[in-house]
Amino acid sequence: MTPPRCLRIALPVPLPRLFDYLPPDGAPAPPDAVGRRIRVPFGPRELVGIVADTGPAAHAGDSLRAALAWIDPAPVLHGELLDSLRWLTRYLHAPLGEVLSTALPAALRRGDPLPDTHTWTWRLSEAGATALAGMRAGRPRDLAALLADGTLDEDALDDRLPGWRAAARALAGRGQAERVALPPSALAPAPAHGPEPNAAQATAIAAIGDADGFRPFLLDGVTGSGKTEVYLRAIAATLARGRQALALVPEIGLTPQTLARFRARLGVPVHALHSGLNDTERARVWAAAERGEARVIVGTRSAVFVPLPDAGLIVIDEEHDGSYKQQDGIRYHARDFALVRAKALDVPVVLGSATPSLETLHNARSGRYTALRLPQRAGTARPPTVRVLDVRKRALEAGLSPELLDGVRATLAAGGQVLVFRNRRGYAPVLLCHDCGWSAQCVRCDAPMTVHAGGRRLQCHHCGHRQPAPPACPDCAGLALQPQGVGTERLEEHLVRAFPEVPVVRIDRGSTRRRDGVEQALATLGDRPGILVGTQMLAKGHDLADLALVAVVGIDEGLFSADFRAPEKLSQLLIQVAGRAGRGVRAGQVLLQTHHPEHPLLGTLLGGGYAAFAEAELVQREAAGFPPFAHLALLRAEAQHADVPPAFLREVAAVLAAHDPEGHVARDGPLPAPMPRRAGFHRAQLLLTAAQRGALHALLDRAVPDIHALPMARRVRWSLDVDPVDLY
Ligand code: ADP
Ligand code: ZN
Ligand code: ZN
Repeated sequence: MTPPRCLRIALPVPLPRLFDYLPPDGAPAPPDAVGRRIRVPFGPRELVGIVADTGPAAHAGDSLRAALAWIDPAPVLHGELLDSLRWLTRYLHAPLGEVLSTALPAALRRGDPLPDTHTWTWRLSEAGATALAGMRAGRPRDLAALLADGTLDEDALDDRLPGWRAAARALAGRGQAERVALPPSALAPAPAHGPEPNAAQATAIAAIGDADGFRPFLLDGVTGSGKTEVYLRAIAATLARGRQALALVPEIGLTPQTLARFRARLGVPVHALHSGLNDTERARVWAAAERGEARVIVGTRSAVFVPLPDAGLIVIDEEHDGSYKQQDGIRYHARDFALVRAKALDVPVVLGSATPSLETLHNARSGRYTALRLPQRAGTARPPTVRVLDVRKRALEAGLSPELLDGVRATLAAGGQVLVFRNRRGYAPVLLCHDCGWSAQCVRCDAPMTVHAGGRRLQCHHCGHRQPAPPACPDCAGLALQPQGVGTERLEEHLVRAFPEVPVVRIDRGSTRRRDGVEQALATLGDRPGILVGTQMLAKGHDLADLALVAVVGIDEGLFSADFRAPEKLSQLLIQVAGRAGRGVRAGQVLLQTHHPEHPLLGTLLGGGYAAFAEAELVQREAAGFPPFAHLALLRAEAQHADVPPAFLREVAAVLAAHDPEGHVARDGPLPAPMPRRAGFHRAQLLLTAAQRGALHALLDRAVPDIHALPMARRVRWSLDVDPVDLY
């Protein structure tokens, strides 16, 4: 057979095509060239691409450049994963090269070799064992003391000693500890026994275990009903059959607590993939999965791209969570892609939630997914009681009503802990001049600056721009500048003053930058009476056994948002936050403070729970022609000049119209984006809606190449978002 004449290479560039190269000089293409990484010259640069195909050059007579070097001894992408990624490319109408590079961990994307997959462990040297008794108190001594009981792997250290890495470096520098590579799974702990499943759990576990091949399940279980128990049993059964399991968890759900629970229960090493890992660690997990060494992978969004040569089960915890949708670059939805992969791998897939997305509920109702229900809290925990506090005409202190403060006081007196939930970080959302009405706006965005640091600093939550708060009003020179509204910092300030005898711990993205920051903050509270103030970082993942009261404030803006998904998101958030209360032995109480106690959404939620809300909302979505009863795609464009994005989108609309003479797909726009300027860029959008998914994709198949070819396309930053979640 003659060697292929040219390599068709997917490159990470925003063009919807492959690029032809000759094999590197003296290194002809092997028969299994597809899926291998290769270095190529690209203009003046050098890029890492992936061979997508081989064959005759697309354009005869072109003089082709030669690639520079093969990187891999074998394809890194192949089989089901490569096929599924090609499917994703078609579905998102995105360039294959960008999809493939998104799927690879950053180190592999850059061309690093596939890393070794030893488990790294630490042990105390003789010198360390001798020195231990005389060490000063501190992390190095804590670590030495831990290691004195035996060698530990780095995952275990992550669980047991936050900040151990610096301590390990210190010990290693003094020759007191050493890092040792062990073959994978040499350190498998013995699996611990979990609670005996209750009847509903047992039914769910059996149904998943009986699934023979692809079958989607919705595990619809109230918060604390024991969904994680079901995942653990289903994963254990998968392991027992000699198969791999992948569990996806939301960004803020992957806590050290969660991982420790998986590790303790499964009896095999659990590989975690999350944003707290460095590039090498991520590549190592990916490689371990690819080699079949990683038997259980628990990870956030991008873990949906791990190779699963022995797949047996995929679990998606909190399937409704917004963090599964990638919001820039290749805008994939990890839940939806997990379903595609489960089908291609022919394995069952479990979507768990107390508040399933309307898309998933719709699929369950139409019979495409099998619904499994856990209607009650597991063990002895009871559902929390919910009370709505009407705060109209009430005197509020830092946004808190007297009744709410009474509730906090009573809970603390009874020895319980309180969560005050406000989904706005910072001190106050707006800085307002009381004399003339001026308010501090970001210079780069159409958005107010958030007040921080008790009023001294302003920060834009959209572009990160910061500046000191002005001493006087820039418009009228008046001195009546006042922070308006309440953020978590202001709540903290007030609660510290109102309850000086208990600890007040604030948990939001401003207070806890580090991954284990939440754990540490919660540890300072312990099981004493105290107050947590937090954003949705606290809405899930952390099991707070002594939390007796959840007080929810400042939800009213969510009741009146223009976004058609706002009621769904608000309901999910409320149910999830409320579900934090009373998970231990204490009875849980929820106080919901609002100026709109008669709002129908609150009535439905309180009367019938999330199921009643979802029922009513699906009827409304159907009547309004919104997902899941219609299919959307959003074209976004932004540029520094205000005229360019709408002009570009008008040309796009013309292209779309030309390819859709019968009008199967409705176009809304071009319209200014809900935030018309962000980080100095003017933004516009064009929304496409189709009753049939097929019609939308057929149109995009035809039109997207023409959109790329528009001369204006080079003057804007534009993107196509298929199945957008946020319409901005
Ligand atoms: P979810 O994932 O639905 O929030 P979890 O699986 O975390 O629920 O369970 C909530 C709590 O109930 C955990 O502390 C768990 O150990 C406990 N639990 C789960 N199933 C049972 C059971 N069958 N019997 C007793 N306790 C259980
Ligand atoms: Zn003023
Ligand atoms: Zn800004």
